[in-house]
Amino acid sequence: MRIAIVGAGFSGLSTAWHLLNKESCEVFIFDAKGIGGGASGMAAGLMHPYVGEEGRRSHLATEGMAASRELIDRVEEKSGKKVANREGILRYMLSEEQTQRYFRHCTEYGDVEPDGEGCFWIKSGMTVDCPAYLEGLWELLSERGATLVQEEVSCLSFLKDYDEVIVAAGAGMLKFPELSHLIPNATENLDLRPSQSPGIERSNLAPISNNGDDSIAPIAGAFASVLNQIFSRVGYKCYTVKGQVLLCTVPDSIQLPPVTRILKGYIAPSGIPGHCTIGSTYERGLSDDLPDPHFARADLFPKVAPLFAKADQLKIADCKAGLRVVRKGHYFPIIAQVRSGLWVIGAMGSRGLLYHAFAGKLLAEAILYGG
Ligand SMILES: Cc1cc2nc3c(=O)[nH]c(=O)nc-3n(C[C@H](O)[C@H](O)[C@H](O)COP(=O)(O)OP(=O)(O)OC[C@H]3O[C@@H](n4cnc5c(N)ncnc54)[C@H](O)[C@@H]3O)c2cc1C
Repeated sequence: MRIAIVGAGFSGLSTAWHLLNKESCEVFIFDAKGIGGGASGMAAGLMHPYVGEEGRRSHLATEGMAASRELIDRVEEKSGKKVANREGILRYMLSEEQTQRYFRHCTEYGDVEPDGEGCFWIKSGMTVDCPAYLEGLWELLSERGATLVQEEVSCLSFLKDYDEVIVAAGAGMLKFPELSHLIPNATENLDLRPSQSPGIERSNLAPISNNGDDSIAPIAGAFASVLNQIFSRVGYKCYTVKGQVLLCTVPDSIQLPPVTRILKGYIAPSGIPGHCTIGSTYERGLSDDLPDPHFARADLFPKVAPLFAKADQLKIADCKAGLRVVRKGHYFPIIAQVRSGLWVIGAMGSRGLLYHAFAGKLLAEAILYGG
């Protein structure tokens, strides 16, 4: 079976991994920018079951964590390099309600412990060095015979010679207007023009929320309406939310916290020695993925100041930006068959690391064995 996957991010690579468990599969991965060119390459690497301000345990978090951990283990075994910090994550509390919920997690799930005043230690939490992980995952795939085609797929019909086509293109799925014709009953009244909604002035945006994804806002800009129309026809509604992280140099004179700390923002160890990551903006109403370091700095530094008293001594070395695709009303990703031979995986929101391996496994099993 010849399978084309559009997108070499967490979704595309994990699906490829599970497909390649079956020897009869030949997998071709198309990506305009190469491995991790989308949101996956920009992610700060936080992986834990309690994403979001409310601190609820994510749906199927046990399965998600187990599948991701397994894939990360495989990458580390193969490369002989550590791609994840497994020391846990320190979550500072925002409210009494959140505190009570975390106390309940301590007894119910056992992977959380109170850690001093005002914070809980999420023992199962990991901080993944995303570029190293993606690179290692690609090495595993290429060893199993996967082919990377560094090309933009401008039209899905170019892939008609493949037995199965999987769109794992993150926010790039917006560029496939023909996808609408492939969804049953999705063709009538579909406006394929860029959104006519008036532009939103950046300065008029509501304050950016934290790393959590409790609030969701509609995307503005080109093709926003197309995405919404496509998924509303199959029972989904999606939005994009821009995110930015800052890579900072840590002066020799200061000692970084050894594990990731989260409050409204977060400060995390980086895979690059002498650096840390500060994240992440949650910018509603934007559909570009251009870094805006001034904005990111103004938004993020006040959020990490309560987590690390010496934050003001960190120097910004780089600013990375990407687009998350978020499903309204549900944080579990979309894994859908659009029609015979065409599949979509995505809408991982801020839970790409938590869900990619499990979602990729479900999709691969559906393709290989039906279901
Ligand atoms: C700043 C930021 C920080 C984040 N931090 C975290 C975090 O700490 N933990 C976490 O779990 N999640 C985090 N996320 C969310 C996470 O990055 C996403 O959930 C995840 O990367 C989505 O993966 P994906 O493979 O579905 O999409 P993507 O990673 O966006 O991959 C899509 C790929 O498709 C390619 N593509 C698109 N269109 C085409 C086309 N037409 N032809 C060819 N190729 C195409 C792109 O180049 C891209 O490589 C963060 C996101 C951002 C933006």
